[in-house]
Amino acid sequence: MINKILLFVGFLLIAVGIFVYYMIDLESAQIMVQNRPVTDGGLKNILAISIGGGIAGLGGVFLIFGMIGMARNSKLQKEKLHIMQTGIKTEGKVTFVDKNYSLLINNRPVFSIVEYTYKDKSGNDYSRRIDSINSNIVIRCQIQVGAIVAIKYKADDPSKSVILLQQAAKQPTDKVSCEYCNAKYSLAKYDSCPKCGST
Ligand SMILES: [Zn+2]
Repeated sequence: MINKILLFVGFLLIAVGIFVYYMIDLESAQIMVQNRPVTDGGLKNILAISIGGGIAGLGGVFLIFGMIGMARNSKLQKEKLHIMQTGIKTEGKVTFVDKNYSLLINNRPVFSIVEYTYKDKSGNDYSRRIDSINSNIVIRCQIQVGAIVAIKYKADDPSKSVILLQQAAKQPTDKVSCEYCNAKYSLAKYDSCPKCGST
């Protein structure tokens, strides 16, 4: 989004710069500098180049930033896709959810911030913060604090991960399974296994 705006402004400034260049450089153009008319063609041309070129140059800077942003985004998209396809699946726990009020569209926060934590195979802890996840998806997938989300992390760099948004989050449960007899029971109801009595 921001990159498209940068590109648009860049193109616009370049067009304005070229227009201004030709307007100043016109034979018939009457240019006043400090209340004196500029009649010298060479001087006019220098003015045209510096003002028109300045505006177009600024446009060029916008264009470059927009293109860098686009390239970075497409690299991120590629990496995400790669993790989706080859990553290691595990569960993450949502630790924070809020609307992103710093990014409003039509005065509404259409994006949300979501943070989750997860462990890799070796038991190392990681967390990830997403600043611009579509708020509708957050609601539809029931992503809320404490929920369990399916994620995949990169095999050779577990600090990078993606949420598998096609699956709804699971709500936290207080059910545990007994280490000894495998019976499932609710921690809210029992302090110890109701079947074998172990804690
Ligand atoms: Zn038991």
